[in-house]
Amino acid sequence: MALAAGLLLVACGDDAPPLVADDSEAESDQSSSSVESVDSGSDAGQIGPAEDASSTLEEEPLIFVVPRTVRQGESFVVAVDGPGAGFASVAFNGQFISLLREGSRFFSILGLDALTPPGPMPLTVAVADASGRPQVQRETLITVTDAQWLIEVVELDESNSDLLDPVILAEDAAARDPIFRVESPERHWDGIFDPPSTGVITSSYGVLRSYNSREPQEYHSGLDFGAENGSPVLAPNAGVVAWVGQTRRRGNGVLIDHGGGVFSGFYHLSEVFATEGQVVNIGEFIGRVGATGLATGPHLHWEVVVHGVTVDPVQWIRLLDFPDPLAEFDPANAIQGPNQLRS
Ligand SMILES: [Zn+2]
Repeated sequence: MALAAGLLLVACGDDAPPLVADDSEAESDQSSSSVESVDSGSDAGQIGPAEDASSTLEEEPLIFVVPRTVRQGESFVVAVDGPGAGFASVAFNGQFISLLREGSRFFSILGLDALTPPGPMPLTVAVADASGRPQVQRETLITVTDAQWLIEVVELDESNSDLLDPVILAEDAAARDPIFRVESPERHWDGIFDPPSTGVITSSYGVLRSYNSREPQEYHSGLDFGAENGSPVLAPNAGVVAWVGQTRRRGNGVLIDHGGGVFSGFYHLSEVFATEGQVVNIGEFIGRVGATGLATGPHLHWEVVVHGVTVDPVQWIRLLDFPDPLAEFDPANAIQGPNQLRS
């Protein structure tokens, strides 16, 4: 692993755009909440330059990136099928990520935040054999498409407006960001997620938030479910409770570590039943809907975070869009192009 990691770190730069995620919430019937999205297209996307691979190995691992055309805010799968492989990793957007292993499948879910600039983005996958000897390294491009987020105007009263203070925002980020840096090296989640609330979705991910008609500074980083105060919040999939806490901006919150860099967060709760370190199953009762923190009414703000990037949770509860890391992929769609490792 160390060898493969070294190669990737040398080869890749850091293109991470600055981003501001808005965790705050409007229970917004005063706002437009539908989001027009651009069709992210099929899995057929751009691939690296066509050239014969130069590996001398008989069983060359197959590398998949699915889909290769990814809308702002979407998650996608990087997978390697390598019966003879021992380690695999991906370098993307300034991050270096080790893939999880289950049998001969190595995988990770990657995600784009809502403000990722549209256009091509490079991604490099490296595979090493069981002894750590680099086997294959390939670069490809994904194509980021523009989601054309709408602007949502939210009117806040004085006490909520006070919570827009950047100091309060920074305090909120500081409470949770360290949690995302500790990733469990195994998958706790199993299949598609369930919605964590039976409430109706009142605000979508990605909408640009204009508070009190000011220029938008933030995007909405999750899904809002409008629900009665005290209604149940349920774990959307299995995991381990990684954080229970409170910030002035988000109120009472819970973070579940679903493994492999996938987390989900639940905010503005009136009551929390989960405790840090608790193992939860899908559907388990973890808290109650409330209006703590910046909130115009009782609702649940649900976030999905992939390797520190807040992504659109809707994709995780829709069978059609779910980024399934265990799906079977057609070998004909494996990443082609030169093996960047030469003997
Ligand atoms: Zn929200």
